[in-house]
Parts: sequence; structure tokens; C-alpha cells
Amino acid sequence: MQILQEELISNNRLQVHVADCKVAIIGGGVLGTSIAYFLSAHAASPESVVLLEQEKNVALHTSSRNTGKVHAPFLYDPVKKKTFAKAAALGYEMWQKYSEHKSLPFKRDGVLEVAIDDKGIGRLEKYMRWGEANGLTKNELKLLDKEEAAKLEPNVRCTSAIYCSKDGSVDYGAFSLALMHDLQSFGCKLLLGHKVQRISYGKDGYSIATQDKEISAEYLVNVAGGNSMDIAHTMGVAQEYTDLHFRGEYWQAPIKYHDLTKLSIYSVPKHPEYPFLDPHWIVRADGRREVGPNAVPVFGPYAYGWRKNLADMLPKMIESSTTGARKVFFDKQFLSLASSELKSSLSKTAMINRVQEFLPQIKPSAFVQRGTSGIRSSVIDNTGRFVPDTLVLQRDSSLHVLNYNSPGATGALPIAANIASKIMEAGALATVDKPRSLWDARTIADRMKG
Ligand SMILES: Cc1cc2nc3c(=O)[nH]c(=O)nc-3n(C[C@H](O)[C@H](O)[C@H](O)COP(=O)(O)OP(=O)(O)OC[C@H]3O[C@@H](n4cnc5c(N)ncnc54)[C@H](O)[C@@H]3O)c2cc1C
Repeated sequence: MQILQEELISNNRLQVHVADCKVAIIGGGVLGTSIAYFLSAHAASPESVVLLEQEKNVALHTSSRNTGKVHAPFLYDPVKKKTFAKAAALGYEMWQKYSEHKSLPFKRDGVLEVAIDDKGIGRLEKYMRWGEANGLTKNELKLLDKEEAAKLEPNVRCTSAIYCSKDGSVDYGAFSLALMHDLQSFGCKLLLGHKVQRISYGKDGYSIATQDKEISAEYLVNVAGGNSMDIAHTMGVAQEYTDLHFRGEYWQAPIKYHDLTKLSIYSVPKHPEYPFLDPHWIVRADGRREVGPNAVPVFGPYAYGWRKNLADMLPKMIESSTTGARKVFFDKQFLSLASSELKSSLSKTAMINRVQEFLPQIKPSAFVQRGTSGIRSSVIDNTGRFVPDTLVLQRDSSLHVLNYNSPGATGALPIAANIASKIMEAGALATVDKPRSLWDARTIADRMKG
């Protein structure tokens, strides 16, 4: 089928109309590539699925700038974080299968979650209950006392710990690239370097404008990561929510520290309502060791450096003055936590000391190289409360994913299968009986419900 019709418009720029597009997906991170993978695998006409990404390649933002863990689901409340708890449980086996299929690294290297004082033990017991409720077996998840933990990791200081063997290390950037090759081979249309600038809705569906293309689509999926809230707002969706951005920074450990532990070491969060605040000792899929991430408040989803952060400051402050974020700024606890995160950004010693509490041998002076940094966009409701789970909102013929934070990369395949299945159920695509993907999205969607 011919879907690109080119025509010259008056100012001599080439404008391309992508006609007959049934579903347009905005955002080529790990979630957008996973959704495009499933939809084009199931579609009778895969070229009627279009994936738009503003950058020159997929997954250049959060999906490549994270800790790279396939998280075991013991950290997620099966009620308050139901979607992520289910998705993490399923995500593990799906990424493992996909990595075998693509010959990509998947290191089942395990994690130790440590309590460094007696207060943390109650939290570990809660994690054990959550882990069991989320399907981890007694062999996969063990509560250890101080001596047992010391036998496993002699250089770690703690009062007790959970050892989980079903936790992996991967490269989600590489996974997203592999998905991109798959969805292209299925026939999905990929438009890289196309930032969506305007969206309008009429009787024929959506008209989506990038710098030089006008795309018409019957169904729109907004998975634009840190930009997804702004896109939802321009479409009149999620007006009761806003977002705040936090930059997670890392420091690379010198080679002399690589043998300090076999496992990644996480510590029980000091403030369970903000579980993303405590930096870890990380074992990466390629063997590197790192400390991080912290969570420094910044003004935009791409504020990796101070220039961009400064440029985003005024618009974000104006926006925040009329939303639930205003209440957060007057919250004493939030302000004190934010200033301690800022301190750990400005001072390497402050950052490394947070991990030194449970790995006493590391010295700040030995860390000379910063790692990458990635930005999470947390959603706040109009009472000023952080929303705990991801939000999937369907309006008219559009679907918006907001608050897609950790363990979003772990859960990307099952959540994408679930979303693809919803879109197919809505009748947006004619489908084939036998999909081209490794899984039937509808079977995975059923498992997400169960
Ligand atoms: C510091 C940190 C550590 C983390 N560690 C882990 C971990 O160990 N394990 C785990 O499971 N999860 C982890 N996460 C969470 C995980 O990385 C995210 O949930 C996931 O990557 C989000 O994927 P995404 O596709 O929604 O977003 P993104 O990767 O941000 O992708 C969105 C895409 O949309 C594009 N886009 C935006 N606006 C437009 C537009 N207007 N037009 C076209 N394209 C647009 C962007 O360029 C981007 O490529 C971590 C997150 C952070 C911040």
C-alpha cells in the first residue's frame, strides 16, 4: 500500500502527508517501541502503524539513562502499585526470552536489599509479604540475618537483608534498538527526528503536525515520557494532574572497587513515600560498578545540564504556581529532602557517603568520573500528593501514559502488550490471527489481569 504522498507546499518546504495511518504513537522510548512492536506484529497492515520520535534515534532519554535493572517485584505494593507489581513479575520472563532471541546480555545477577538499622527490618518483612503476593517463590526471595548477609557479601554492613536471586541487569537502550529493528521488519513506519508540535482533532480523527509532516491518524498513543503530561494537557486530558522532574545522577566506581560485591546493593528507603531517593551500589550488565541515582529537582525533562535547567525554570515555575505542585513547594519535609538531594548533586562526598553507610570501604576521593544521568517525571495530583502508580488514561480515540517511572523499563513489554490489546479491542486496527511477535499481546493482557 502506498502511504506516503509528497507535495510541495507554498513556502517550498517538502510536506509529507502520511495518509491511511490508523495508529500514531508519539515517543520512541522503551515503552513506545514496545507498543509499536506489538501493534505492528498484530496488524493486518503494519504500515498503518506510525511511530514518531523527536530524536535521531530511539531511546536517547530515560530509556538509556537508567540503572538497567530488571527489578524483581518485591519492592511493589500489590495494591497501591498494582500495575507495576504485575508488570515487573511478567517483565522478567519476557525480557529474558527476548534477550535470548536477540543474543543480548541479560545477567541474572541478583540483588541484596539491606536494612542498616533496626527500623529497616519491619520494612524488609513488608517486602517479603509483597514479594510473595507478587509471585516470587521462597527459593527466589530470602530474608537473611546479619550473619547470613555477611556470608553472602562480607564487605556489606547491615543488620538484616533480603536476598533476591531473580533480579537482572540489562541495557534497555540496546533492547529498544532491537525492538526498533523488529518493528521496522514487520512493516511499521518509523519517523525519527520528528517532534510532534501540534495535534488537532476533527471528524476524520487526529491531525498531527511535526516540523515538516502532517500525519492523519484515527487513534493516537501518547507515550512521550517527560513530555507526555504537556501533550495530554494540550489535548485537554489529565488537567487535574501536573508533573515535577527529578534528575538521577551516578558516579562510576574505580576498577579497584569492582570486586567489593558480586550483587547490586540497595538499601531500605529512609522515606518509603519517596522510594527513589536512596542511591544504590549498582552492578551493571557490562560489569561496571556505579553509585546512584540521587533525585535532584530540575525544571524540565531534558535538564541534564545547568543551561537547559535554567531555560526551563521560568515556564515551569509559572505553571507550578497554579497546580498541585504549589502545595509540594510548601511542604517542609519535601523541601528538606530536596535540599539534601541538591547537596548530593553539588558534593560528590555527600553522594558517596550515602552508600558508604552500607559499603564502608568506598572512599569519595576514589570516584573521579561521573556516570550518565536520567530524569524521572513524577505526577502530582491537585491536592499536592505524589501519584504512586502509572496512569493510563483513555479519552476519545487516544491513550496517554503518565507517571511512567521505575520499574517502567522492566514492565515495558507486558504494559505495551496490554495497551496494544486495548487498542485492538477498541477496533482501531484490523488484525491477523498469528502475530509476528514472540508473544500474542492478548495472552499477555489476560495475564496482566489475572
Ligand atoms: C535515574 C533512573 C533510573 C531508573 N532505573 C530503572 C531500572 O533500573 N529499571 C527499570 O525498570 N526502570 C528504571 N527507570 C525507569 C525507566 O527508565 C522508565 O520508566 C522508562 O525508561 C520510561 O520509558 P518511556 O518510553 O516512557 O520514556 P522515554 O525513554 O523518556 O521515551 C519517551 C520518548 O518520547 C520522545 N518524545 C518526547 N516528546 C516528543 C514529541 N513531542 N514528539 C516526538 N517524540 C517525543 C522522547 O524523545 C523520548 O525518546 C529509571 C528511571 C530513572 C530516571
